[in-house]
Amino acid sequence: MKVSNWNGRPVVENATLTPFERGRATPPNSCPRGNGRSYGDASLQHSIIDCTGNKETLELDGDILSVSAGFTVTDILNFCIPKGFILPVIPGTQHATVGGMIAADVHGKNHESNGALGSWIQSIEIQLGLREPQSTKEGEIITCSTTENEDLFRMTIGGLGLTGIIISAKFKLNPLETTTFEQHVSKFPSLEAMIEALDKSSATHKTGWFDFFQMDQFLLLENSPKEGTNIPSNFQLRKAKIKLPFKSFPFVQPALMKIYNKRYARNLLKPKKEVRIDDVLFPLDSISNWNYLYGSRGFYQLQFSFPKDGIDEKMKAVTLKILESKFIPVLAVVKKHGALKSVGVLSFVQPGFSFAFDFVYKKGLTDFLRELNQEIAEMGGRVYLVKDALLKGAAFEKMYPEAKDFKERLSNYNDGSMQSLLSNRINLTTSMNQRFLIIGANSDIAQACIPHFEKGGAQLILGAHKPNEIQNESHEIIEIDVTKPEDAIQKIESLQFDGVLYAAGSLPKNEEALFGAIADHTMAVNYTGAVRILGAISKKFIDQKKGTIVGISSAGAVRGKTSNIVYGSAKGGFDHFLAGLRQYLHPKGIRVVTIRPGFVATKMTEGLDLSPKLTATPDQVAETIVKHALRGNRNIVYTKPIWRPISWIIRNVPEPIFKRKQL
Ligand SMILES: Cc1cc2nc3c(=O)[nH]c(=O)nc-3n(C[C@H](O)[C@H](O)[C@H](O)COP(=O)(O)OP(=O)(O)OC[C@H]3O[C@@H](n4cnc5c(N)ncnc54)[C@H](O)[C@@H]3O)c2cc1C
Repeated sequence: MKVSNWNGRPVVENATLTPFERGRATPPNSCPRGNGRSYGDASLQHSIIDCTGNKETLELDGDILSVSAGFTVTDILNFCIPKGFILPVIPGTQHATVGGMIAADVHGKNHESNGALGSWIQSIEIQLGLREPQSTKEGEIITCSTTENEDLFRMTIGGLGLTGIIISAKFKLNPLETTTFEQHVSKFPSLEAMIEALDKSSATHKTGWFDFFQMDQFLLLENSPKEGTNIPSNFQLRKAKIKLPFKSFPFVQPALMKIYNKRYARNLLKPKKEVRIDDVLFPLDSISNWNYLYGSRGFYQLQFSFPKDGIDEKMKAVTLKILESKFIPVLAVVKKHGALKSVGVLSFVQPGFSFAFDFVYKKGLTDFLRELNQEIAEMGGRVYLVKDALLKGAAFEKMYPEAKDFKERLSNYNDGSMQSLLSNRINLTTSMNQRFLIIGANSDIAQACIPHFEKGGAQLILGAHKPNEIQNESHEIIEIDVTKPEDAIQKIESLQFDGVLYAAGSLPKNEEALFGAIADHTMAVNYTGAVRILGAISKKFIDQKKGTIVGISSAGAVRGKTSNIVYGSAKGGFDHFLAGLRQYLHPKGIRVVTIRPGFVATKMTEGLDLSPKLTATPDQVAETIVKHALRGNRNIVYTKPIWRPISWIIRNVPEPIFKRKQL
């Protein structure tokens, strides 16, 4: 089925949703999902564990709430408010689940006084993200808190669902006296003036709002519980007034929003005596699926924060860049974040202010937002990861210095089976414990790849036709002879891996292969064995909905030549095979990378007269191979860039001329 999160971008076609089941080991390459109220790809993957059905426990003991991860804010508030308690931190949507809120370490409009949600969690029950835990084939369930498994606790709060599946949690609630608030809205002539007032405001719940289309009114909304009022005994949150049946005509258009925002500001400024708690906490939820108003093209939200220091200058730069572009946000909200430090290692909130801007999708927007992300990173800001679909790894690491530490500790809880599109995009899990099978592990290039894979955090299975010649105690070694593909396929069937590097190759003496039986062996190693084995692996990857196939072809594969007639033709066939496979597997989310090394100084090329300028060392080739094997989206990689134009020329010289050359 098609799945996307709240903003409708990106969309995963053909996702599989598996309902969460306590104790079931994590399917490979999957991510947990709550109600999809994040914007972007935090809870997207081809294989998704749907946690919304996990609604076993909702109990109050004194002021401690025990709650299963599938319950939503609505469920909790409707249960607790009539009893005189409230969750101390509530995000701007009542549809977020407990699991989603913990994994995002959400904040509310009262961050200054109450901090982020993590500060109110007593303990979390979590099923680790392991395929096969040490002790049992079942998913391993652990309770963590500040006194028990503290590291897991801090990694899970704001940990984007990467440590495992949150099953339930205990929260300390706050007492609540009333569901009626006093609202005060004031108008300021500039963003700086509004931020200053927001900073000083003593209201319990406060936000700023402004309209990018006018830039002449900046409103501060201050809400505090109204004295002398109480909680109606039958209190329940209001149900949405409007529910859109399908994605409509995209009503959210700049021209319409200009008018709407003007009216909205006028209404806000009308004096009001009191407002209900729903209107304070969830102003957007009165239309239950308001995201449909953006139509099927969807939108992006950018939420980022800056520390208070130098904020005016930084926001001047950001707003100017936006105003000078053709991408004007239709909604702009400001929040203040207080000094209470977040519990989670990767939590978003830091003292200062955050800004959330909604951009209607149109061509060019993603490039613009990526540029903006980069500038925000350079100015010391950070983007809220559950509101992001575009951040690149380097910008993320600049924004979150904790990322390196998080990544290193993550492998204690997740063997690579929990990965979201977000975590792969920002390189949190791309190479984390990826398991690569190297076929042809006896070759010099394969051997040179091993330390680079290790540096990238990957685990390896070494498939070699002479396993006894491999001195390596760190990795599993199996015998794979590509000239016996049936036998190889049988062995591979039971292995678990996420990527394969086909490095087997055989370069015979040219005329021996042309006139002798060795041609069969050359074709088996370089081509037919590869076709059979990689064909079987493709099927495996299709079933697991993920995988990377890397094949070492040759720069010589682009055209038949006199110097290596049989070898060149076999590599040519292999190169074509990889190209076809790439087209076939691309829509299924499986990557195929063709590596075309030029000359490489290996035992295979010993004795050949190779130009040093065109010849790479196995280590140089290995570094390039592993870089593209573990991440990125390149299709054909030349390990020495000079070989790209050379290959182009070789391919395009007219045949009547080419046949006279002795290449
Ligand atoms: C209108 C609106 C207003 C919002 N306002 C705020 C706000 O004021 N403050 C704020 O902080 N956020 C806000 N958000 C964002 C929202 O609160 C978070 O994105 C939250 O994570 C959504 O919860 P969800 O259940 O929909 O999770 P999803 O969007 O499905 O998932 C979010 C993350 O949680 C993980 N996850 C979900 N369930 C589990 C589980 N059981 N175990 C482990 N990991 C899990 C996912 O893998 C993913 O990384 C708002 C969103 C909307 C749509």
